Amino acid sequence: MANLPIVQYEEKIIETVEQNPVVVIIGETGSGKSTQLSRMFHRRGYSKSGIIGITQPRRVAAVSVARRVAQELRVQLGEEVGYAIRFEDRTSDNTRIKYLTDGVLLRESLANPELNQYSVIILDEAHERSLNTDILLGLMKRLVRLRASNLKVLVTSATLDGNKVSKFFSDCPVLTIPGKLYPVQIFYSNERPSSYLESSLKTAIDIHVGQPEGDILIFMTGQDDIEKLVSKLEDKVQALEEGSCMDAIILPLHGSLPPEMQVRVFSPSPPDCRRIIVATNIAETSLTVDGVVYVIDAGYVKQRQYNPSTGMYSLDVVQISKVQASQRAGRAGRTRPGKCYRLYPSKVYEDNFLDVTVPEIQRSSLAGCVLYLKSLDLPDIDILKFDFLDPPSSETLEDALKQLYLIDAIDEHGTITNVGQKMAELPLEPSLSRTLMEANNYGCLSQALTVAAMLSAETSLLSGWSKTEKKRKHTMSNLPDGSGFGDHIQLLQIFERWDQSDYDIGWCKDNDLQVRGMLFVKDIRKQLSQIMQKIAKGPLDVRAHGKSEEKQGYKNLRKALCVGFANQLAERKIHHNGYRTLGFKAQVVQVHPSSVLKPDELGKFPDYVVYHELIATPRPYMRNVCSVEMRWVMPIINKLGTLDVHKLSGGLGHIDEEPEEKAPDLPKKGANVAAIPDDRKSQIQAARERFLARKGKK
Ligand code: ADP
Ligand code: MG
Repeated sequence: MANLPIVQYEEKIIETVEQNPVVVIIGETGSGKSTQLSRMFHRRGYSKSGIIGITQPRRVAAVSVARRVAQELRVQLGEEVGYAIRFEDRTSDNTRIKYLTDGVLLRESLANPELNQYSVIILDEAHERSLNTDILLGLMKRLVRLRASNLKVLVTSATLDGNKVSKFFSDCPVLTIPGKLYPVQIFYSNERPSSYLESSLKTAIDIHVGQPEGDILIFMTGQDDIEKLVSKLEDKVQALEEGSCMDAIILPLHGSLPPEMQVRVFSPSPPDCRRIIVATNIAETSLTVDGVVYVIDAGYVKQRQYNPSTGMYSLDVVQISKVQASQRAGRAGRTRPGKCYRLYPSKVYEDNFLDVTVPEIQRSSLAGCVLYLKSLDLPDIDILKFDFLDPPSSETLEDALKQLYLIDAIDEHGTITNVGQKMAELPLEPSLSRTLMEANNYGCLSQALTVAAMLSAETSLLSGWSKTEKKRKHTMSNLPDGSGFGDHIQLLQIFERWDQSDYDIGWCKDNDLQVRGMLFVKDIRKQLSQIMQKIAKGPLDVRAHGKSEEKQGYKNLRKALCVGFANQLAERKIHHNGYRTLGFKAQVVQVHPSSVLKPDELGKFPDYVVYHELIATPRPYMRNVCSVEMRWVMPIINKLGTLDVHKLSGGLGHIDEEPEEKAPDLPKKGANVAAIPDDRKSQIQAARERFLARKGKK
């Protein structure tokens, strides 16, 4: 520990922090920022007047680092050192050092806007530029003024863009901790491989057979590819002639790995054995694995992007940025000189790679973020003028406002409604919180809680299911099928079956459901129930039961979903099994093949559905769909027709290019406050007419 670079700068760090409310600390990955800064402030007595909070953008990092620090301090995890991530709180009254995701800190600030329980807040991994950390940066700016006397804020980053953050915080000091990086030799390939997986495999085996000892770290884009590569590597290594080279252990590393598997990468390799670690981006800066000498970098990362003009998400494999490439290479030089094999030509790196990664705020839906900021109800915070390090596009903000309006979270003037205020208290995406509120009115809260919990479990529940459709169908036959209404209903039925089995673990196993995931759902459901009771200020019936709903075709639940997902509705195209979305820009989409919603005996899909997510993979699909009825859709179509973005935005202050002193009620130039385009109006009109025509037919 003592030799970690950051510890050698303790005096300097403490001195600077004592004199300044905000300090930026830049230090190479592995220099000890995440594990040592908190201990330093704890040692220096900062934890006497409050908790030392350290945010992490990734759940697994929060857990892993907390576990490590507890170990170092020889305390039990959850006592002096604890962590809190969404739906999982391992802290106690004794906790002085608390690791938490940036999302959890945002949520805490709703209950306590001044975050008085904290004496030090460290926004760690700021270079990741997660949406929540970006919002926190804006909040901190305000908070350090309010709590000048008793709050210290640190922003830490592994890359060298500290000046931007420093400027943001009125030129606060930037401490750069010189890292002990050894030189890393970089090799480029002559061309992009046709399969990055095969190419990674070959490179790894070449290194293993031909290079001296030292662990290999391979960057893959996701869990599937990691599993494939791990199994191929195992085969290859086993096929090597005995005694021809040292042994090898192959270790996966990704966010959905069970904790006991995750800790394996932190134990050093046995003598005469090489570790080959196959990881997602998580090993780029969030987690430091010691002993790595060789890095294989294909230059790709999987990134979720939101397109506000289509309302569509895509999970794309994209090229990493130059900053990321250099971080990855850096992993090879922590303990001695290393080598990095880039599976792309240097020309591609020079010409095609972006300099820095696009911050999440510029590629996410902002409905949750806007609702959060509106719910803060702070006199001096105006979402429209909110101080972001990099402001989101006006199109994305507008998209968020429209969605919030459609689900009644804000009124036509853009003011947060009662219902919106309550929604913000739930740690869920706005559409699901709205569904819960509505379900409570319709007496089907219990069912809606189950659906929300099933959709919110971060791990895949069905990972026992084989990826191939054939096997899956076979397995599916034992599970409920949604009774023809779709995926939400199926999720509900699965949970209810499990409830009837008295939460039997054997039942999960028999049905190839992930036990850990299902237990998590049960826990999430309980937590959501508690929050709902708190919001309702009284006891609610939240027991899992549902037979009566089943008899009525799950009407109430589907109706509640229709209200919550008002911005995620689609109408079947006449004479066709494709759908057209009823949002702000019509998209032609299909039901995802994995859905349990199938055409009826006449070969027809239901006329209207809500979907949980639109994904472009690359064809546009709706994932998780549930049929709804025409008469519930009509009020929403009407509401769409009345929507006036002018009023909603009320003048998007900071994103307007025009000078401030313009009269606020003058129509503003620019795309940000454009009225509904004519084609949109006619589209709504057309939908309404189709609706009326059908109604007439009945
Ligand atoms: P930084 O945040 O600056 O990237 P960390 O504080 O995460 O650095 O890591 C400092 C050192 O602690 C590294 O050598 C790393 O390998 C080690 N370390 C961090 N987490 C764990 C863990 N869970 N188990 C074992 N070692 C760890
Ligand atoms: Mg760190």
